[in-house]
Amino acid sequence: MQTKQFQAESKRLLEMMINSIYSQKEIFLRELISNASDAIDKLYYKALTDERLSFDKDSYYIKVSADKDNRTLTISDTGIGMTQKELENNLGIIAKSGSLAFKKENQVEDGHEIIGQFGVGFYSAFMTADKVTVITKALDSDTAYKWESSGADGYTIEPYEKDTAGTEITLKIKENTEEESYDEYLEEYRLKAIIKKYSDFIRYPIKMDVTERKLKEGSENEFEELKEEQIVNSMVPIWKKNKSELTSEDYENFYAEKHYGFDKPLKHIHVSVDGAVRYNAILFIPEKMPFDYYTSEYEKGLELYSNGVLIMNKCSDLLPDHFSFVKGMVDSDDLSLNISREILQHDRQLKLIAKNISKKIKSELQGLLKNEREKYEEFYKAFGRQLKYGVYSDYGTHKEALQDLIMFYSSKEKKLVTLDEYVNRMPEEQKYIYYASGESQERIEKLPQTELVADKGYEILYFTDDIDEFAIQMLMSYKEKEFKSVSSGNLGFEEENNQTDASEDGENKELFDYMKNVLSSKVKDVRASKRLKSHPVCIAADGQVSIEMEKILKSMPN
Ligand code: ADP
Ligand code: MG
Repeated sequence: MQTKQFQAESKRLLEMMINSIYSQKEIFLRELISNASDAIDKLYYKALTDERLSFDKDSYYIKVSADKDNRTLTISDTGIGMTQKELENNLGIIAKSGSLAFKKENQVEDGHEIIGQFGVGFYSAFMTADKVTVITKALDSDTAYKWESSGADGYTIEPYEKDTAGTEITLKIKENTEEESYDEYLEEYRLKAIIKKYSDFIRYPIKMDVTERKLKEGSENEFEELKEEQIVNSMVPIWKKNKSELTSEDYENFYAEKHYGFDKPLKHIHVSVDGAVRYNAILFIPEKMPFDYYTSEYEKGLELYSNGVLIMNKCSDLLPDHFSFVKGMVDSDDLSLNISREILQHDRQLKLIAKNISKKIKSELQGLLKNEREKYEEFYKAFGRQLKYGVYSDYGTHKEALQDLIMFYSSKEKKLVTLDEYVNRMPEEQKYIYYASGESQERIEKLPQTELVADKGYEILYFTDDIDEFAIQMLMSYKEKEFKSVSSGNLGFEEENNQTDASEDGENKELFDYMKNVLSSKVKDVRASKRLKSHPVCIAADGQVSIEMEKILKSMPN
């Protein structure tokens, strides 16, 4: 037997965990139970596609048992188990370097939130345990293994005896200290309460041996304590419950339990539809952007259940790209259980559900914008770019859905505004929706081109995202008002009509010719302009493509 070291980064993380980065120690139980539930789900999923396996629902459960005398708490499951390799990979590496790098890059001060982002559920066990022992046997494997670790010093793996597939995790609960009590994690009533709070909707029975004080048989005043196995969780999935029975805390717990994110959801959407297509869905708009959101690593999708049973982890067909940030699940009794991915793509029911969901999300976002502006702006800061990307790429089909949800920073309001707000306060004579593109607000404010428009008292939208101008080009107009870059040739002011005053150009012909000569490869023409106030020159674009867009196009790989 050989002691292996955790990888260096893992070691640091583990130390952070052990120093109680999670604000509540009790969540370790939620984490271990949801891993157990995942393990049973995996087995179930396998059974769907492997004829040799049968899934007898009744023989799958999770059991929590406490032993006060030995100070141990054991969580066992009849799930898929782990092979030796899986033990090493899954329990030996805590976080990948990318995650730590992320923390540094973003200079996040608050460790609590970040640790969540790592998905380090298992290790939360060390918040309450000195030593963790995992005995596991993988399905289809002849050998069982024992993994053991006392924390940062590493872990051991050795072959072990176990009859059936599944995993048994035993925590050696810490001794009480002056500041902290750990005894409670050995108390039945406390464990029951924690399970109820976080894991009530776990779909498999969570069993516990509960002590019952009962009258002795044949006696009228003598009691005896009997251990009785009970199922502690209600198992009714949250989405099958009545909305009125549920609190926001229930939804938040579900979000955390399901690992949709480690933030709190900004908004939950609970849908129960009983029409041409029947389904229940619980959808969440996250509060924070997942750290991999704008990378190719990020996978959109909703969990798909058929009649309460998970059939797919990330069903991407359920979400349009522009709502790829939405997390959650859909359960429909109308879908066939043995459905394959290929069939699913063409499933009529699924298409209907997807369409329906998309509408719900849209109206929920509109409601947020209308009624909870601050929340919406928070949402928009995280995911607005995706909506604008949607305007650009899915324009044909989603114009209506998206144009009212996008916002830009306004020169007048000094905050994010919608196109509707802009158009509604346009003075009558103003012909266009003006915008200025640049790297940042500060840079845009220094652009000579903004002066004239601002002087007219017109509002300017600041385009600081590289996608902005592309999106607007696809929209072309909003409520019949066209968009106009402040750098474009003709700004549409009355007095501008005689802008290229031939006499002025003539007067300065020699100078202009000279300038054109010097700048020959850089400009097409040099002209007199009436646009300038405090700046001596400005650059104007003639065609459809603005200077900023040209820059982006040039920087794009072909
Ligand atoms: P996460 O659940 O987010 O993947 P965890 O740290 O909770 O992260 O668990 C790490 C991995 O260890 C899991 O993804 C799973 O592969 C494995 N694992 C943990 N507990 C069990 C279990 N009871 N049965 C089978 N595999 C498990
Ligand atoms: Mg987990």
